[in-house]
Amino acid sequence: MKATIEQLREAVEKAKTIAFFGGAGVSTESGIPDFRSTDGLYNQKYDYPPETMLSHTFFVRHTEEFYRFYRDKMLYLDAKPNAAHQKLAEWEKQGKLNAVITQNIDGLHQMAGSKHVLELHGSVLRNYCTKCRKFYDVTAITGSTGVPKCECGGTIKPDVVLYEESLDNDVMDEAVRCIRDADMLIIGGTSLAVYPAAGLIHYFSGSTLALINQDATPLDERADLVLHDSIGKVFGAL
Ligand code: ZN
Repeated sequence: MKATIEQLREAVEKAKTIAFFGGAGVSTESGIPDFRSTDGLYNQKYDYPPETMLSHTFFVRHTEEFYRFYRDKMLYLDAKPNAAHQKLAEWEKQGKLNAVITQNIDGLHQMAGSKHVLELHGSVLRNYCTKCRKFYDVTAITGSTGVPKCECGGTIKPDVVLYEESLDNDVMDEAVRCIRDADMLIIGGTSLAVYPAAGLIHYFSGSTLALINQDATPLDERADLVLHDSIGKVFGAL
């Protein structure tokens, strides 16, 4: 049902273990656009839609074109955490929150101080050699042109889950465990339309499911508290 920030604050105070599940909306308020909300912008500059360019096949077959798009549209290294990132880090320190489960790949939760961050789609801040598995930080991408290469000659790939690739099983298992253990689950900044968001929620059997999203989602009916509002504004007021 529709709720007020005050009702959410009361529920948070009562909760013993909160799990947070976040989507693109958490980062858009830090100035990182959601590439899924294609507005035709990309089409003017690129021959393919973002979903194609961010696929495994495209990475393998058109690596240079992949990196042209990736460097241009996927890296926002000047972005700063917003009120949502900060509040979640604070709750973790207080022992109130067991995990941030995120679909975002920008590392902003860690920048805000969160330790237990389950990155379902990986992170742009980690990169690895597809041949020898050596890890590189993001400067391997930003400090190179064309296709970034490892010292062994192998191609470096972002540690990001591309379309057609499967999610890391260990990360998924841990996300399921944290959602099961929580008595409150807060879902923020995601329409819940895409896998695996919708699936993970079925593991929650706690008392309070809260949804914070600008627009209505398919799960609004099931949630105990629904706020159609800016996630930064809501967390800033908690
Ligand atoms: Zn290598």
